[in-house]
Amino acid sequence: MGKLIKPLEFNGKWDLSPARESTEHIDIKKQYQLFINGEFVVPKSENYFTSVNPATEKKLSMIAEARKEDVNTAVSSARKAYEGVWSKISAKERGKYIYRIARLVQEKAKEFAVIESLDGGKPIRESRDIDIPISAAHFFYYAGWADKLAYAFPNRSFSSVGVIGQIIPWNFPLMMAAWKIAPALATGNTVVLKPAETTSLTALKLAELIQEADLPKGVVNIITGKGATGEELVKHKGIDKIAFTGSTEVGKLIMKTIAGSEKKSTMELGGKAANIIFEDAPLDQAVEGIVNGIYFNQGHVCCAGSRLFVQESVYKIVLKKLKHRIQSLILGDPLDKNTDIGAINSKRQLNTINKYLKIGQQEGAEMFQLNCEIPDKGFWCAPTLFTNVSQSHLIAKEEIFGPVLAIQTFRTISEVIAKANNTPFGLSAGVWTDKGSKIFNVTSKINAGVIWANTYNKFDPTSPFGGFKESGHGREGGLHGLLPYLNLNYVK
Ligand code: NDP
Repeated sequence: MGKLIKPLEFNGKWDLSPARESTEHIDIKKQYQLFINGEFVVPKSENYFTSVNPATEKKLSMIAEARKEDVNTAVSSARKAYEGVWSKISAKERGKYIYRIARLVQEKAKEFAVIESLDGGKPIRESRDIDIPISAAHFFYYAGWADKLAYAFPNRSFSSVGVIGQIIPWNFPLMMAAWKIAPALATGNTVVLKPAETTSLTALKLAELIQEADLPKGVVNIITGKGATGEELVKHKGIDKIAFTGSTEVGKLIMKTIAGSEKKSTMELGGKAANIIFEDAPLDQAVEGIVNGIYFNQGHVCCAGSRLFVQESVYKIVLKKLKHRIQSLILGDPLDKNTDIGAINSKRQLNTINKYLKIGQQEGAEMFQLNCEIPDKGFWCAPTLFTNVSQSHLIAKEEIFGPVLAIQTFRTISEVIAKANNTPFGLSAGVWTDKGSKIFNVTSKINAGVIWANTYNKFDPTSPFGGFKESGHGREGGLHGLLPYLNLNYVK
C-alpha cells in the first residue's frame, strides 16, 4: 500500500512561474462614501476607517463609517422607495432591473474578482471562478422569479415584507451581498445592507453598478461601518426584517434585540461540519473533497468540513494521501493564479486561529502543517490538520473559521452518525461512499441543512442553503429563499 501512494517528487522541476493577475484595470478610490438614496454621501460624522490588503497589510482605501443618523437616513430612503416605487411597479419591471444588475456583474467580473482578492485575501482562482460567477447567477436566478411568484406559491396570496436590513460577513463579500439583495428585490422589498468592516470594497463597487443600472433611488442602500452600525440597523424601528450571516454569537445578540418586535429574521450562522469518509469511498476523490472542504477560502467558510471522520480500516491510507496532498498546496500571493491558499482575512482572525492551534496542541492533539515559506508581511496560516482528536477537544467542537482540520475515526455507521450529530451546530455535512443506499441512510439521520454526497462545497442559486440548531434558521437560495421575503396567506 505504501508504494501505491508514493508522494510526487517535484525537486524543484515543477516549480510554477508566477502568473499574477493584473491590477491595471482596477479602480479603487482613495475614499468611499455611503450609498444612500442612489447617491454616494459623506457620513454625518465624517468618520472613515481603513481597509487593508490582508496579504500585504498595505492600505487599500478609506471607508465611511455610518452611525445612527446615517442609518436613519438610509432606512427612510428605503421606506420611501418601497412605498413610492418598488412595491408599485410591475413584477416584470422589477425583474428587468435585476437582470440588468446580473449582466453588469458579469460584464465587470474581472474587476470584481481582483478587488475581492485584494480586499479579502482569497485566491484569485476562487474569486474569479466561484464568488463572482455565483453572485451573477443569483441575480439571474431571482430576476427570473420576480414575475413568477404566483407559480412559486400557488393557491396562496403574497405580499412583500417591506424594508429589509441585511448584515453580511467578510468570507464571501460580493456573494453574500448577492444572496441577500437578489431575492429581496425580486419579491418587491427594498434593502439597507451593511458589509463587514474588513471587506466593504466589492459591495461599494456593486453600489456603483446599481447606480449604473439606474435602479430607482433608495431601493438598495449600502452603509459601511463596524459592528455598531449593524447594531443600529437591527434596532431600527423602520426595519421589517433582518437577514444576517455571521457568527452564532452575534446572531444570538440580534435575536435578543428583535425579540418581542414584529421583525422577521433569517440567521445564517456558524458551523462545524462533519465530513465522513467510509471505507468504500473513492479515496483519491475523497482526499480532494477533504482538501476542498476545509482549505477552500482558507477555511473561512461557515459550511467548511472542519471535522473529518474516517472509517478506521482506511484511516492510515487516507491520512497518508491527505498529508501528501497538503504538501502540494501553494500558499502565497492571492492574485497569483497558481495560489491555492491565500491570506487570512484579518489580524484578528489570524489571532483567533493561532489561539486554536495552541489549544489543540495543549489538549494533546498532534499537529501537522504544510511545510512552506510564510510571506514576511500579511496574515497567513499554513493548512493544518490535527490527529489524536477526541469529541471533547475544543478544536473538534468550536468553529475556528480557518484552515484547520480535526480528524477522528469511527468503526460503524451508528457511531459516526452519533459523533457527527454531537454538535450544537447543524449547517452542513459531507458523506463519501460507493453505496447509494448508505448515502440515503446516513444523510437522512444527520441533522444538517445541507449535505453533500461524494462532493463538497458546491453552491448553486437554485438550491436552498441554511442550517438547524445554532447554525440559524431560514433558507437562502432556491424557491425556499423567496419565502423569508414574503408574507404568505392561503387563499380560501
Ligand atoms: P461577526 O458575526 O461579528 O460579523 C458578521 C457581521 O455582523 C459583520 O458585518 C459585523 O460587522 C456585523 N456585526 C458585528 N457585531 C454586530 C452586532 N452587535 N449587531 C449587528 N451586526 C454586527 O463575525 P466576525 O467578523 O467578528 O467573526 C468572528 C467569528 O465569527 C469568526 O471567527 C467565525 O468563527 C464566525 N463567522 C462566521 C461566519 C459564518 O458565515 N458562519 C461569517 C463570519 C464570521 P463588522 O465586520 O464591522 O464587525
